[in-house]
Amino acid sequence: MDRRLGVCRLEVTGDGAPIREHARPEPSSGDSAAQHWHCHWHCSTTLLVLDDSLKQILRTPGLILWLTGAGVSAESGIPTFRGKEGYWQVGSRHYQPEEMATWAAFQEMPDEVWAWYLYRRSVCRGAEPNVAHRALAKAEERGGDLFLLVTQNVDGLHLRAGNTLDRTYQIHGNIDFMRCSRECLPAPVPLPEGIDLVWNKGRPVTERELQALKCPSCGTMTRPHVLWFDESYDEANFRFQSAIDAAQQASLVVVVGTSGGTSLPMHLGTIAAQRGVPMVVINPEPNPFSALVTRSGNGAFLSGAAGQWLPEIVDALPSA
Ligand code: NAD
Repeated sequence: MDRRLGVCRLEVTGDGAPIREHARPEPSSGDSAAQHWHCHWHCSTTLLVLDDSLKQILRTPGLILWLTGAGVSAESGIPTFRGKEGYWQVGSRHYQPEEMATWAAFQEMPDEVWAWYLYRRSVCRGAEPNVAHRALAKAEERGGDLFLLVTQNVDGLHLRAGNTLDRTYQIHGNIDFMRCSRECLPAPVPLPEGIDLVWNKGRPVTERELQALKCPSCGTMTRPHVLWFDESYDEANFRFQSAIDAAQQASLVVVVGTSGGTSLPMHLGTIAAQRGVPMVVINPEPNPFSALVTRSGNGAFLSGAAGQWLPEIVDALPSA
């Protein structure tokens, strides 16, 4: 099946010529932003056909702000925080990510928190960018300075897919970096060599590794360079003001794979909605961002996976 043309083909043996083909139907007036067209003849794949109103929104001139969350990396095999794979066991207790990803937990059990992050880093390093990441890299290639990506993901997959650090604000940090826990370093530094990239769930940190994780400047224990649930955003580490400036300048906001459970992303969405900027929301489930679209009537909620929608969306964008 050729997804770009929206045509299903059944090849026959011998000369390989298609004996039957049928094109996708044109969306009819009054349809919602896109049609899910099921080919019941030859294949079970769902084609997504963007309709004219959505194409019109995507042609809005000016800066496009792309806001991504853990759902974009779900198709690379990295669990979201809402999945049940996220828990961590310490002794006989199971901790939820929202408990482990805190300054309070780090103060109480730094070795355990580091072990959890080194395991999560191993999951991220073992994953590959998926079609959604690649589509966003293409969007930057085409959009240039009219492209800006704000991501909550700490997995680095957007950068590995080809997005540039200049136009990618990692507002929750990057799991491959660490900072002095007393903030004596001017900037985060990469995790030292000698820390295993493959880390089985439950494996503790050794004394040698704990030594390697000390601050190279003052000798205090470092911490993962991520924003924890009991901490605040700032510009130096997390591009807080720059992200707000982008929401104030954007002409279109596309929100992909986030539950809306964290404050800055919701703030960015609210700024855009208050400015009357159209918003496109991609998620398998309705969420607070899709509620903003429903309330404003300005934009579209596209129900489904990031990888299902983003290639079509990016193909429909105008070139810079
Ligand atoms: P979340 O776990 O709260 O929500 C994930 C969202 O993705 C949900 O709304 C879910 O419906 C949606 N989703 C699931 N599969 C999807 C798919 N295939 N396509 C599109 N959407 C899909 O994640 P969040 O909103 O990003 O925020 C929670 C925090 O979790 C953030 O601080 C983030 O840094 C952290 N986190 C990051 C990663 C990562 O870096 N990959 C992974 C887990 C958690």
